[in-house]
Amino acid sequence: MMLNPQTVSQLRAAIERANRIVITAHHNPDGDALGSTLGLWHTLRNRAKDCTVLLPNGFPNFLAWMPGADSVVRYTHGADVAQRLLNEADIVFCLDFNTFARTEMMATALEQTPALKVLVDHHPLPDSTFGIAFSYPEASSTCELVYELLFALYGAGCVGQDAALCLYTGIMTDTGSFCHACNSARTFQIAGELVATGIRVDKLHSLVFSNFSINRMRMMGHCLLNKLVMLPHKTAYIALSMAEQEQFSYQVGDTEGLVNYPLSIKGVAFSALFVERPDFVKVSLRSRGEFPVNEFSAKHYNGGGHMNAAGGKSYRSFAETLEHFEQQVKELDDLRLLNFKNTY
Ligand code: 5GP
Ligand code: MN
Repeated sequence: MMLNPQTVSQLRAAIERANRIVITAHHNPDGDALGSTLGLWHTLRNRAKDCTVLLPNGFPNFLAWMPGADSVVRYTHGADVAQRLLNEADIVFCLDFNTFARTEMMATALEQTPALKVLVDHHPLPDSTFGIAFSYPEASSTCELVYELLFALYGAGCVGQDAALCLYTGIMTDTGSFCHACNSARTFQIAGELVATGIRVDKLHSLVFSNFSINRMRMMGHCLLNKLVMLPHKTAYIALSMAEQEQFSYQVGDTEGLVNYPLSIKGVAFSALFVERPDFVKVSLRSRGEFPVNEFSAKHYNGGGHMNAAGGKSYRSFAETLEHFEQQVKELDDLRLLNFKNTY
């Protein structure tokens, strides 16, 4: 995508003037959120900028190897430190989310900082609360956008190996290892330019995707064997209770990717994962084809996301959540789902 040159110049000048920069992303940061914040952080630090990555809460273990991950400040580790960082910043980069509410307990502090808020994101329909906005829903990932932005700001070669590792990781995780949301040649060009910095893609992939604990592997087996429910209307879901999470010594990130498995079944075009938490049920939705799960999530789970990948929360009981979902699916008459065909 072509970034607006005037907006890029405006940002370049703001960065030059800024003494302190904070870079943040959404609650429960994933590979794209952590990768984009750290990728930007490495590059701006290399340009002698004082910057800090501030995230609402922690990230899963399979991302902890990323260079710079140790330096991330978490809101959950001290709201006062986070408040000060936000209040003293000249620029706050808001990456991989489109509304302050996605930073959950950090939202008010973020809203109230006098800093210039710069959005870099690929979720549709962003709030208009950002001072400068780079919003491109057609981008594979925020990491791809951060690369484009850095390229536009400082030219080829400004992204070093550490930043490349982080940015490649986010493109890889958000596209399911270059399987979806990446029909643009530019995504592959950018991946190529990142690889050209000398990063080892085989090692990186293995760190993210082949680092399961035995408990996580067995939990996945349990879900596929015992918990996968097939519904009419090309739909399947998995629901995991708190008791089952305990049984498999659940760790943050252990259900990551699980929601994608039902979509590998012939004829299934809509998949859901329900994970019981103490105060709500975490909902993850995926689709293939034209059925917009972000709309389904907004309607039923006060959530959002992309057309083929969305999430939200249910405040019904675990059992009621599943019953309600089954009922909604039964009543679905959405041709975008019903007419799905696995053809080229
Ligand atoms: P996941 O199912 O992996 O948690 O999230 C998939 C996508 O849905 C993410 O890219 C994110 O944009 C979106 N998403 C997940 N949870 C929420 C939520 O609670 N609210 C909103 N608005 N979007 C969410
Ligand atoms: Mn993303």
